[in-house]
Amino acid sequence: MDSAAIRAMADELRAGNRRALARAITLVESTRQDHREQASALLELVTPDAGNSVRLGITGVPGVGKSSFIEVFGNHVIDLGHRVAVLAVDPSSSISGGSILGDKTRMETLTRREEAFIRPSPAGRTLGGVARRTRETLLLCEAAGYDVIIVETVGVGQSETMVSEMTDMFLLLLLPGGGDELQGMKRGITELADLLLVNKADGDQKKIANHTVSDYRSAIHFLPRKHRAWTARVEACSAAEDSGILAVWERVQEFVASLKASGEWSERRARQALDWMWRETAESLLVDLKRHPAIAGALPALEAAVRGGDKPPTVAAMEIVRLYKHASAQLDNANRNESIDL
Ligand code: GDP
Repeated sequence: MDSAAIRAMADELRAGNRRALARAITLVESTRQDHREQASALLELVTPDAGNSVRLGITGVPGVGKSSFIEVFGNHVIDLGHRVAVLAVDPSSSISGGSILGDKTRMETLTRREEAFIRPSPAGRTLGGVARRTRETLLLCEAAGYDVIIVETVGVGQSETMVSEMTDMFLLLLLPGGGDELQGMKRGITELADLLLVNKADGDQKKIANHTVSDYRSAIHFLPRKHRAWTARVEACSAAEDSGILAVWERVQEFVASLKASGEWSERRARQALDWMWRETAESLLVDLKRHPAIAGALPALEAAVRGGDKPPTVAAMEIVRLYKHASAQLDNANRNESIDL
């Protein structure tokens, strides 16, 4: 694609064209070098139009009702005049080839709505790769006019931390009864949550759900505070009966208003953008460094020495950096001489 085609794609995207959005996402998901460059150009063009959304992270163990919740919640939010994009982050697909979030027909009624855009998890060998693609997709969706972005993930790995770092507000879905361990949850996830929702508060489980709500309400007092202007809340809901779901949107609006008033909203967005920049820088430098012939040759011996306990890891790291600097300086000199020749 030449630069005119990229500009045309950016225009279609800004006009809210879904096919252009799908094509743009395919482009940012590609690992081909020329595609990466085109994706960067596209992102640079549309970034001024991105950012005008509420970014919600949602997690919970498989079976807690994430897709059922998003389906009901998404429909309500659309009825209120919003456009909703649902992105999935499923690290299981990169590790095992299978996926926990699944290919089952999910969110059927939401899928059919013009104002909804649902995208499955990008494939990727590393969580970092999946994270980058999801972040970029999020920006593209915002540029295309989606003002509520839901990033869904499973509550079993490291992906929750990552999703909480790319979103404004983090929702944790819980089952009635049992504490974190019973819920199969990794320690620490509760600390990330701004809103804890005990789902399936219906039928026989309603009473247990209310107990779980009180248990969590007392437990979260002991957690460190995440925001100056917001303390985590615990509520019950039922996706099956559509109760307490509209109230979640009210909570989201309260959260946004509180953080905007305290200045934390823009502080957080700015910090996330900078963190992302440095992570990308570190990752691409590392790729470049490992591929460098001067270093690739020296790595097996260095790694063996570190593995065998013959060389302290910090010393080996310094040697690698020294080799890299030396090799880069040589390359710079060669380039300079070349341009003088011209
Ligand atoms: P996910 O794996 O977290 O996405 O969970 P699903 O949305 O696929 O739901 C798992 C199962 O729980 C399904 O059989 C749903 O019908 C059921 N379920 C979801 N929400 C509720 C609820 O609020 N109440 C009840 N009773 N069942 C629910």
